[in-house]
Amino acid sequence: MKNNIISELQRWYASNCDGEWEEECGIKIETLDNPGWSVIIDLNETNLEGRIFDEINNHEYEDSWLDCRVEDKTFKGFGDPSKLEAILQIFIDWAKSQNEDWLRPPPPLSEEEQKKIENDNFWNALGDEIGPELCKHENCNRKRIQHSVMCKQHHFEMITGQKRI
Ligand SMILES: [Zn+2]
Repeated sequence: MKNNIISELQRWYASNCDGEWEEECGIKIETLDNPGWSVIIDLNETNLEGRIFDEINNHEYEDSWLDCRVEDKTFKGFGDPSKLEAILQIFIDWAKSQNEDWLRPPPPLSEEEQKKIENDNFWNALGDEIGPELCKHENCNRKRIQHSVMCKQHHFEMITGQKRI
């Protein structure tokens, strides 16, 4: 059977489903009240994350328009009522141009990389050193963070067993 644009999209989608990706990421195709189409495709943890997409902004006539861009790790395509197929084609062409094997997802994160992301999230959630009390750690002159008797650095070290560099 010849591949049409929908089956190509299905293949790209299926290639990224790994038991986790599809829980938070996916593809949304909706209509707009303009009227028109909206195609939103998550690129998080796909082989397209971080790839450059040259924005398309085509408004020839009032009833013939097309906008495609990539921002926030998301492909966003919008167009008039006749443009759904064109938007999907633009996405598939781009996806195929970006990787040698466009259906091979990136390798899963190593344990170390996963740990680093967890630590980064934890660090970012700790908040500012608001004090006014000083950190309880010996010889530390920094103020404590909220919900701890220690500064950000020492609280992080206590929980994760690692120094934050
Ligand atoms: Zn401290």
